[in-house]
Amino acid sequence: MALLLTGKPTVEGAGVRLLRVFGLQEVPRFDPFLLFDDFGSDNPDDYLSGFPWHPHRGIETVTYMFSGSVEHGDSLGNSGVISAGDIQWMTAGSGIIHQEMPQGVDDHLRGFQLWVNLPARSKMVAPRYQDIKADSIPEVSPHEGLRIKVIAGEIVGVRGPVQDVIAEPEYLDITLEPGADLEHPTTPGHTVFAYAVNGRGKIGPGGAYELERGQLALFTDGDSVIARAEDVAFRFLLVSGRPLGEPVAWSGPIVMNTQEELAVAFQEYRTDTFIKS
Ligand code: FE
Repeated sequence: MALLLTGKPTVEGAGVRLLRVFGLQEVPRFDPFLLFDDFGSDNPDDYLSGFPWHPHRGIETVTYMFSGSVEHGDSLGNSGVISAGDIQWMTAGSGIIHQEMPQGVDDHLRGFQLWVNLPARSKMVAPRYQDIKADSIPEVSPHEGLRIKVIAGEIVGVRGPVQDVIAEPEYLDITLEPGADLEHPTTPGHTVFAYAVNGRGKIGPGGAYELERGQLALFTDGDSVIARAEDVAFRFLLVSGRPLGEPVAWSGPIVMNTQEELAVAFQEYRTDTFIKS
């Protein structure tokens, strides 16, 4: 394994307190992934201010909720609620302007947002939403003590509902009961990371690291993921994707290949010509 990271407290949007696990500082280490945030709190003051109207271009944003919900709406009139267990895989492509407003349940909120980069040839594709409800995410149990929600990718012949994403991602929500383990091969050449959501467990190859809530392990190319829960249950997200290997020009919510493309995007945003379809 290459790296262990711990989320850093960060303020985003209109004052949302969250943990930024990786972001701009880590480019290009997580290619094709750009950013990963864990937003969780029992205090509504930490999240109710939300993420008011802002643009995205050139990326995909993936929002996965464990508890509470996020109301979203965009300038094209799309709107909805991402509730507990739901995932939204949004391809911003040529551009959307949206807002994302979290709501807790009994004051509690927990969710995750991942940004996936788009290659040059797809940065200006038409926006697309894959809104996946909790009950359409299959859960498999390859052996006792192991449960896997398959969001993207395939486990024991079961395919996740998120499809046709350029990064060929795998996005798995894995729970190991105490004493249970998992061995999972990875695709050579793909970037692979595990993020501990709850509890703790050993992860490696070779049980090299103990990972606990808020920590991320980045695997070395070709490593198998070997995980084990010892005295407590261990829930983690396992995410992988094919790197793009392209230049990254990133400013706030817009990620392009060149500074010129960024300048055009912000100019279009200022002059109300940002939205293409
Ligand atoms: Fe956003």
